Order: sequence, then structure tokens, then C-alpha cells
Amino acid sequence: MKKPYDLIVIGGGSAGFNAARVAAGLGKRVAIVDGARELGGLCILRGCMPSKTLLYCTEVLHLAQKGSVFGLKIPSARADMKAVHRRKKRIIGEFADYRLKALESGRYDLFRTHARFLDERTVELSDGRRLRGKHFLIATGSKVSVPPVPGLAETPFWTSDDVLDLDFTPPSVIVLGGGIVACELAQFLRRIGSRVTLIQRSPNILRDHSDEASAVVQQAFRDEGIDLHTDTKILGIAGGKAGVTVTFLSGGKRIVRRAKHLFNALGREPNLDGLGLENAGVKVTDDGRVAVNRWQQTSRPHIYAGGDVCGPHDIVHLAVAQGELAARHAFGVKGIKPIDYSLLLNVVFTDPPLATIGLQERELDEAGTPYLVASYPFNDHGKSILMDANYGYVKVIAEPKRGRILGAEIVGREAGELIHCFSGPLAMKATVFDLLRAPWYHPTLAEILTYPLEELAEKIGP
Ligand SMILES: Cc1cc2nc3c(=O)[nH]c(=O)nc-3n(C[C@H](O)[C@H](O)[C@H](O)COP(=O)(O)OP(=O)(O)OC[C@H]3O[C@@H](n4cnc5c(N)ncnc54)[C@H](O)[C@@H]3O)c2cc1C
Repeated sequence: MKKPYDLIVIGGGSAGFNAARVAAGLGKRVAIVDGARELGGLCILRGCMPSKTLLYCTEVLHLAQKGSVFGLKIPSARADMKAVHRRKKRIIGEFADYRLKALESGRYDLFRTHARFLDERTVELSDGRRLRGKHFLIATGSKVSVPPVPGLAETPFWTSDDVLDLDFTPPSVIVLGGGIVACELAQFLRRIGSRVTLIQRSPNILRDHSDEASAVVQQAFRDEGIDLHTDTKILGIAGGKAGVTVTFLSGGKRIVRRAKHLFNALGREPNLDGLGLENAGVKVTDDGRVAVNRWQQTSRPHIYAGGDVCGPHDIVHLAVAQGELAARHAFGVKGIKPIDYSLLLNVVFTDPPLATIGLQERELDEAGTPYLVASYPFNDHGKSILMDANYGYVKVIAEPKRGRILGAEIVGREAGELIHCFSGPLAMKATVFDLLRAPWYHPTLAEILTYPLEELAEKIGP
């Protein structure tokens, strides 16, 4: 065995690649081990980027289809799925090539195989080679989970990977789940012309968000013809190649729905199979994630973890930040700070999109923290009215004495962009008064934010 690496990264996705990049920048000797057939990680290959490529296509399609609202004659706008698929493949191929070039740049030793811990200083590769390291980063990501829903494991189903790779319009799909991936892709399927049934166990879709925000997206889904069922209990799933049947309870009634395809979007779980964590003494939490402290160290301080494998949120900018933090901490970079989860930024790319930043009313109520809140609807704002973007509202939450901004929630057109109006101010602990001193151009969607800010300023007083 050669001299130990300064850092061995297991998994070259968002967390792993960025940890390796930072460590190499610090002059360290780094190995990246990734067993995927295609390199790039979930975000590039089968997550953020392909899903957003497709969702943007259907956003354009949807606008074209409602052209008459704007006085336009667009006779028949529809998806050419072969062309949509080709475009997605080309764009994702370019992103993946770029990442592959970075991985193969020679700054790291790249091993295209799986790794398993033999002990806390050694990993074994699938071909039997062994690597020793002074530090490690576990960044093996997540995989689709198959919860114990009656009949699910025995019935053929699609995952998000399959939906993102469609080059045809499926006639009908039953979507199980109401989380972000379920909602984004259910709307994509509906907009390309599938008959879509969405079945969610909780009383609302997007249950990690406020009831008010979920209700707006639910209304939009129903308006677009998605057959949406919430507060359900699945009694059974059956079927094969010809189609699937899902039987469930909703509002005390037994309901049966049939479709050609089943899409399991019930969630993901950390990818820890075959990693040999027990050999290294790395502990896992009750919900199956690698346990880490605020510096991303596991129960073995020289072994770090980052990304979906440890959570707490499956969000790519956090995976990147965790990987970078781990590398900086491992090599003693001065002045680093743990990730501040009170700045949590979340975007759901449905239409209307939903975005939140910072602390939300639910958590403030639970913690008994006093706050002020003000909101304003998009259907009363000039720019959104002229864009026919009437769904939703903006909401700002502030501390009651000085007006420091604690959080914001936006449901409506461009929410994922607009929420960034609060990123800097929140990180800099700005108040509503600070934001009201900033210029807001007219007529923009962004200027709608001045209404709740002014209301809060009035409530707080001079
Ligand atoms: C459909 C979909 C849409 C999404 N959209 C968004 C979005 O819009 N915005 C957002 O922020 N997040 C989004 N996410 C989540 C985001 O993609 C993930 O949080 C992020 O990519 C996780 O990065 P990671 O580094 O933890 O893991 P990954 O990028 O999955 O990397 C893990 C790597 O580890 C390798 N590996 C696994 N086991 C081993 C082993 N034993 N040995 C060697 N290598 C191994 C794998 O091959 C893989 O390359 C989406 C996810 C999905 C599924």
C-alpha cells in the first residue's frame, strides 16, 4: 500500500466533489472513489438539473397554451417528447462532461469503483485494492426508498430517474407521495398531457411547508386537472405491465384508481449499502443517516460525512457547503463557521413555485418565540396581474422590537428567484427598515415585497 492520502472522498457528487476541490486547493493529496457508471452525482444526472430542464419546458408550454389570455393566437402548443428528451440529454451531457473533466483534471486520484471501510483508516475498492487515508469524507448520497406500503414492493414502479428519462407521454400515471419530487414531477407529467392521480398520506401536499402555502399549490394542481387526494391510507397496490390499481381510503371512503404507470415518489434514504461503516466505528442516527456534529465529523473525528447521506436536508447547496466545511475543518483552516441552519433556503419548483427562507411561523410558534408577520397577495399587485400570475402571496416574518427579519415565505410566480431578495439581508441580520431603504424598481414582481415590509414597519413604529 502507498503512503496514506490526506483525504479520501467516497462519492464524487456535490458534497464529495466540493470537499475534494477545497482539499486539493489547500495542497492536500486527495483520492475520489466513485462507483457510478456515469459520473456527475445526483444533482447533475438525475436530480436538480434534469428536473429543472424539463419543468422549464413545461412552463413555456403552459404559457403558450394559455396564450389567449394575453390576446395571442397560438393554435396548438404541445410537447414533442422526443425533442424534449433530446434537449435534456444534451444539456445534462454538457454539465456531466464538465464535471468529468474536473474530476479527471489530475488534481485528484480518481478511482471508478465502490469503496468499503475495512477499518477506520483503510478502504477496500471493488477490485481488491486498498487505500489508506488520514481523513475521509463519506458522501455516498441517497437512493429511492420503498416504504412498507401494501403491494408496492411487488408492483413494478417508476422512480424519478424513469420520469426524468421519458421520451414519450405516458397516458396515465399514479404518483405516490406529495413531497417536492412528487409534486414537481406530477405537474410535469400533467403538463405533457398525462392523466395524473396524486395520492398523499398527510392532510396536505408539501407537508414541510405551511398549510397556507400548500393550499395554494393544491388549488393550482386541481385547476390544471391533477386528480389530487390527500389525507389517505393506501389499502393495496396491484398490477403489472398492463397497468396498476391503487385502492385507498380518503375521507372515510374507499377509492380505487387505475393507471398505466405507477410512480413511487415516497422519498429517499441514505445510501449506506456495503460501505462497512461498522468496520470503521461510524455511527448512524435512528432515522438511518450518518450522525455528524456541526463540523460534519462522524463518531470517528477524522471521518467526515456530507450531503444526503447525513442530511438534515437533501438540498444541493447544503451538500456543497457541508463538503467544503468538512475539508476546511479537517485541514485546520482558521476562522471557519458551522453551517447556520436558521438561514435555511428552500425552493419547490412547482408552478406556482414555493420558496421559504429562515425561520417559519410553525417553528417560531413551537419555540414560543414572539414575531410579527405580514403578507400580500399576488392578485393585487400590478406586475403579477399583467403577467396573469395571480396565485399566491408573499409573507415576511420579523422580530417585533427592532424588526430584524427572521424569515420569509413566497408562493407565486418566480418565488425561487424572489426569495433571494432576503438571502443577503437575512445573513446580514437586516431589519425591515434596512430593506425599506433599499431601492425597488417599478413595475417588478420584486417590489411586491415592499407591501409586507411597510406593514411590518408600521406595526413596529418609529
Ligand atoms: C428528482 C430530484 C430533483 C432534485 N432537485 C433539487 C433541486 O432542485 N435543488 C436542490 O437543492 N436539490 C435537489 N435535489 C436533491 C439533490 O440532488 C441532492 O440533495 C444532492 O444532489 C445530493 O448530493 P450528494 O453529494 O449528497 O450525493 P450524490 O450527488 O448522489 O453523490 C453520491 C455519489 O456517491 C457514489 N457512491 C455511492 N455509494 C458509493 C460507494 N460505496 N463507493 C463509491 N461511490 C459511491 C454515487 O455513485 C454518487 O456519484 C433533487 C433530487 C431529486 C431526486
